[in-house]
Amino acid sequence: MTLQEKDSRYLWHPYTQHKTSQTPIAISRGEGALLWDENNKEYIDAIASWWVNPFGHSNKFIADAIYKQLTTLEHVLFGGFTHEPAIKVAEKLMEILPKNQQKIFFSDNGSTAVEVAIKVALQYFFNKGEKRTTIIAFENAFHGDTFAAMAASGISFYTQAFQGMFIDVVRIPVPVKGQEQVSFEALENVIQRNNCAGFIFEPLVQGAAGMVMYEPEALAKLIEICKENKVLTIADEVMTGFGKTGKTFAMDYVDADPDMICLSKALTGGTIPMAITTFTQKVFDAFYDDDINKALFHGHTFTANPTGCAAALASIDLLQTDEMQTNIERINKNHLEFQKKIESHPKVITARILGVIFAVEIKSDSKESYYGSMRTKLYNFFIENGVVLRPVGNIVYILPPYIMTNEQLQKVYKTIEEAIEMV
Ligand SMILES: *Cc1c(COP(=O)(O)O)cnc(C)c1O
Repeated sequence: MTLQEKDSRYLWHPYTQHKTSQTPIAISRGEGALLWDENNKEYIDAIASWWVNPFGHSNKFIADAIYKQLTTLEHVLFGGFTHEPAIKVAEKLMEILPKNQQKIFFSDNGSTAVEVAIKVALQYFFNKGEKRTTIIAFENAFHGDTFAAMAASGISFYTQAFQGMFIDVVRIPVPVKGQEQVSFEALENVIQRNNCAGFIFEPLVQGAAGMVMYEPEALAKLIEICKENKVLTIADEVMTGFGKTGKTFAMDYVDADPDMICLSKALTGGTIPMAITTFTQKVFDAFYDDDINKALFHGHTFTANPTGCAAALASIDLLQTDEMQTNIERINKNHLEFQKKIESHPKVITARILGVIFAVEIKSDSKESYYGSMRTKLYNFFIENGVVLRPVGNIVYILPPYIMTNEQLQKVYKTIEEAIEMV
């Protein structure tokens, strides 16, 4: 039996309708931007394995750091204990995060990072004795699949079975070009009509919505409105963090600082599941009290896992090398050239870029749904041609590992051009 055949006996895959989808491809090896399946077919990983892997597969530098940590202290509980790797991650993040961030809380994945942020926003006001229970989020947001994160998410595919079971969330339009004023007014209205605790947003790029982009000035204005109304702001940088937008964090473009930041995905270079939520001193102080009831009663068994911390430290070291910064600029330049070439194509609606993120919207006769027929056709074409890309409806995006070579990038572009001709 092949791995593919064995897989279907017991395994249940994420976001998968097993009756209609093809069996998953069994990957046996990865190196740099490349993956090989059990038949030794080669694939270019053009989406960094769901945006987690900026430095390439089987990275030796991170692997060595993990091995060293595993053979020194693999794990210790973080309740009542601490350790150097966690302290070092905190110190390192303080150097690179927006200056107002002062406290960091560990968890395991992007959804839990968001879950923590939303719970903190709600308990912040509970602790102050103020009734504020509504969370504000963007239309078509994606913040993860646990309950509070899902409540904040606006893509119906992920949430439709659970409507009516969520915390209170109200949605405002994304301030894409031309819609800024509408978005600002919506936020002001929402704040007037509800007891709002927090506003959660994906800064500058909505990943799962299909790399929808908006300007830093618009986000700064939305944050300012929240500040005037004492609504806590939560920047979900799970996708955008650690260089993807061309700066370390998307918030580095924005002339306003959030109260909380959620990090995961590229945090450990795609090696060990880990997430962090960061906070201002003001937020922390609302929990700091003689009364134990005001503490944050949230934790996960593997909180601040030392091995994960060692991977995070090695990853941030890699990100900060000149070589990696040059790579990010190089990929951005390549994207800009490809955009010029492709945006006038009769089948292209628009192409957009931020940092290493590239997205192209393809014309379609019908309104393409998230997992619609065009998406399936495109996806299969890419896989046949040895390129891992997961289109969102009629939107094809690239989010390559930073170490992807120019040659590999050109192959990805060429395959996308062929796909556009094909559909
Ligand atoms: C992926 C993602 C999440 C959820 O992260 P998981 O690790 O999949 O739980 C949350 N927010 C954003 C912006 C994401 O892209």
